[in-house]
Amino acid sequence: MYKSIDFFRFQEMFSSDHKCWNYLVKRRWPVEFQCPHCGHNRYYFHPQRALFECKACRYQSSVTANTIFHKTRTPLKKWFWAIYLMVHQKNGISTLQLQKYLGIKTYKTVWVMVHKIRQAMAARDSTYQLCGLIELDESYFGGKGHTGKRGRGSENKSPVLVAVEVPDNKRPKFAWFGQVPNLESEQIEKALKKKIKDLSILKTDAYKSFLFIPQKGYYHYPKVMSDNQKIADHLPWVHILIGNVKNAIRATFHGVSAKHLSRYLGEYSYRFNRRFFEPQLFDRLLNACVLTQTITFSELRQ
Ligand SMILES: [Zn+2]
Repeated sequence: MYKSIDFFRFQEMFSSDHKCWNYLVKRRWPVEFQCPHCGHNRYYFHPQRALFECKACRYQSSVTANTIFHKTRTPLKKWFWAIYLMVHQKNGISTLQLQKYLGIKTYKTVWVMVHKIRQAMAARDSTYQLCGLIELDESYFGGKGHTGKRGRGSENKSPVLVAVEVPDNKRPKFAWFGQVPNLESEQIEKALKKKIKDLSILKTDAYKSFLFIPQKGYYHYPKVMSDNQKIADHLPWVHILIGNVKNAIRATFHGVSAKHLSRYLGEYSYRFNRRFFEPQLFDRLLNACVLTQTITFSELRQ
């Protein structure tokens, strides 16, 4: 496992597909080979097709099966660079920019790669739960193009719950962006129950859809806020985060459609929630790419 993140070391470690392949084997089977079919640990290796054949059940598997690299025709070292660049860019990286960096001819190829990596980030991040003292607010994100409209209910934008765990009421720990179909109490409750542990303390504004909160296993601190300063005092981190992510999405992607929005938001919270683990960012995301359920091109197109 590497300790620094500089380009030169990364390039040296993953200068060939063979090196990347070996690294992937170690991530997939950190202790020893395990047959995906029967769990047996002994195998024959077929070098020409890079296949592992289980000695017990004869099932043949590749290290990339069921990962985001499954049947890819793009060299692994380009995938590795895509992962590296996506996880280290605080504000994200556009598909077009990545296409230039990676020297890949077809935009669609890069578009699918990026979405698969983003899906791995979002899927991994969705397993976290927040608890304790939490700032919670709602906002609208996404939308294609520039309609010039802002705020609650703007065209093409999707409602999103944003929560930040602030254990000591000073510094934020974890964040969550949850896209919801609408801002009715039932939808909010459903989303909160999945993501926020019972008995947590939720600070919100006095938005009517939040008023159910005390009946549902949480403590609730709503505040009626008439001016910006009061909002900043009561919910400082959640507002900073909403502003930062909106700016980043606007600057990097110009707009995001509702059907892909939750993955984009997952990408941002993934990076935010791991901001103190910088030397491990690549390895952690590579693990997520190997271990989480991936998404296909046809699913992306739906
Ligand atoms: Zn087997």
